[in-house]
Amino acid sequence: MASKLYLVATPIGNLQDITLRALETLRSVDLIAAEDTRHAAILLRHYDIHKPTVSYHDFNERNVAPQLVAQMQEGKSIALITDAGTPGISDPGFYLVRAALAENIIVEAISGPSACLAAITISGLPCDRFVFEGFPPAKKGRQTFFQNLAHEARTIVLYEAPQRVPRTLQDILSHWGDRRMALARELTKIHEEVKRGRVSAIIAGLQDRPLKGECVLVVEGRPKEKSTNDSAPGD
Ligand code: SAM
Repeated sequence: MASKLYLVATPIGNLQDITLRALETLRSVDLIAAEDTRHAAILLRHYDIHKPTVSYHDFNERNVAPQLVAQMQEGKSIALITDAGTPGISDPGFYLVRAALAENIIVEAISGPSACLAAITISGLPCDRFVFEGFPPAKKGRQTFFQNLAHEARTIVLYEAPQRVPRTLQDILSHWGDRRMALARELTKIHEEVKRGRVSAIIAGLQDRPLKGECVLVVEGRPKEKSTNDSAPGD
């Protein structure tokens, strides 16, 4: 296999959600760079893949990326995987991709799952155009973040940690209004759940128990001004 950097998408939950090409790539590279090598070991063991792994994450990327680039310049091929989904999407990857491209190393996508795409396609909200905004800032810049998106007409996709979902929904309600939305939780896993409805109704449904698991919020864009004849399907 020629020296390349492969960005390999891995499952967002269900271990079956991996492409044949991803498995073939992981089997044939010289080295697998993984966000968490112990987490990667679960996937690699499941598919009986035995390759050296090296840790590559947000906190060591500046040190490790040059080492990985040097190895590729020596002729090694490297696959980058993260804990879930597509590397680079709210995950480590960009820094290494840029460093590799700067040295004319070929970077190839081994495409596959991403929680963003899985959530928006099942949300029931328009997905011909959308904006992916990743995780809302937890503190600094948070109010500005929501204010700046208030006039966005395209569907908005956010990632959020479960314990922060209630507060984020309150901020969405106060900055964007009571829009239609979907809360997609634990996609492709045993406890997969998708709640669809107005923001206020989703908030009301979360009162009784703390939310657990991984969550994507899909919120409709700013609704068009209604003419008097317009009705809202699903209201
Ligand atoms: N690179 C990943 C991708 O392509 O989707 C995203 C990684 S980001 C660090 C992790 C976030 O993705 C989680 O906090 C959650 O918002 C979302 N996520 C990942 N797996 C998910 C799942 N099975 N169900 C719902 N959301 C998920």
